[in-house]
Amino acid sequence: MTGAKIIISFLPFSKPVISEEEIESVAEVLRSGWITTGPKAAEFEEAFREYCDAEGAVALCSATGAMHLALTALGVGPGDEVITPSMTWVSTVNLIVRVGAAPVFADIDRNTLMTSADTIEPLITKNTKLIIPVHFAGAAADMAPLRQLASRHNIVLIEDAAHAAGAEYRGEKIGRRGSAVFSFHPIKNMTCGEGGMFCSDDPELLERVRRLKFHGLGVDAYDRTMQGRAPQAEVLEPGFKYNLTDIAAALGLGQLNRLEEFIEKRSLLARRYHELLSEVDEILPLAIPPYPMRHAWHLFVVRLDVERAGMDRETFMKELKMRNIGAGIHFKSVHTQKYYRETMQLPDGALPNTEWNSDRICSLPLFPGMTLEDVDAVAAAIKEILA
Ligand SMILES: *Cc1c(COP(=O)(O)O)cnc(C)c1O
Repeated sequence: MTGAKIIISFLPFSKPVISEEEIESVAEVLRSGWITTGPKAAEFEEAFREYCDAEGAVALCSATGAMHLALTALGVGPGDEVITPSMTWVSTVNLIVRVGAAPVFADIDRNTLMTSADTIEPLITKNTKLIIPVHFAGAAADMAPLRQLASRHNIVLIEDAAHAAGAEYRGEKIGRRGSAVFSFHPIKNMTCGEGGMFCSDDPELLERVRRLKFHGLGVDAYDRTMQGRAPQAEVLEPGFKYNLTDIAAALGLGQLNRLEEFIEKRSLLARRYHELLSEVDEILPLAIPPYPMRHAWHLFVVRLDVERAGMDRETFMKELKMRNIGAGIHFKSVHTQKYYRETMQLPDGALPNTEWNSDRICSLPLFPGMTLEDVDAVAAAIKEILA
């Protein structure tokens, strides 16, 4: 490829894009005298709720915290089984184990990396309490069949929407219907530094999550001050400390304002990757699901056809790094990690599509601060590595 620039400084696979205005809004909070959960967190919660057109939203310190609260609020515990993919971030599965329930791994579609009603249905038993589908890389999981399946068996669904802020399924934002957990970790499509959001259309579940997020008091420190209830609020049930600070929420508000712009830029970059990589037989991008959805392009995940390339994924990533290009793995499947290997002892081949992908996936640089020339340079480097 001619004309592709050589990358002189390191191109990471992700990098947050933060404006001076956002920095100033954080500084304002710092100067205001109220830095923990307060007016900004409330404003952010409402803005995100409105963006998703959700019935309710609760701002939290992480998606992991949000999932912990959801599991606790649903009373998931010993004797319960929770079906989720192994191709996910470890946090969900860790929490299932921490609350005393048993994770049950559903295999994924080989090319979208998502679970479906078809892969989940055979795993349902009388102990199945919850299904946690994961919207992967910014694409939406096929929710309609999953919702039907869950309601037929009277099982709850909580969507892991950590990748899916701004994604849509059949014309509706993820978060609009059912219950979903979002992440605002720095690599996600919008960030608070660290943060999360629980969206739900179940008022009871919202109420429990809201109460559990701050010691089980039912009100947080700000509510207590503002509503004159300080300091005699009482513990209604033992809770956690998963509230989002105003410092983080101020950043979240600014990022939410630019989320549409971020996704448009991500889509543009992804289209360029698709164009350039369609010529490279050894590189297989993920498939885009056929049902109506809006991709939020959180990650650009490709699979290295290791047989055809005559090179393993680790060598490929090392070669990228030598050319100043960062890449990630989303994800090394959970059941292949030490603790889960030892405790679950799933036989090799138990989750064939998960395992096939786990050895071959690689996330290429994708973030709104990149240029099309950066994509050209990554594609050129890949061609050179595989030549
Ligand atoms: C990032 C991520 C999480 C956890 O989000 P945190 O906000 O870091 O707790 C959960 N699930 C998936 C699929 C993720 O990528």
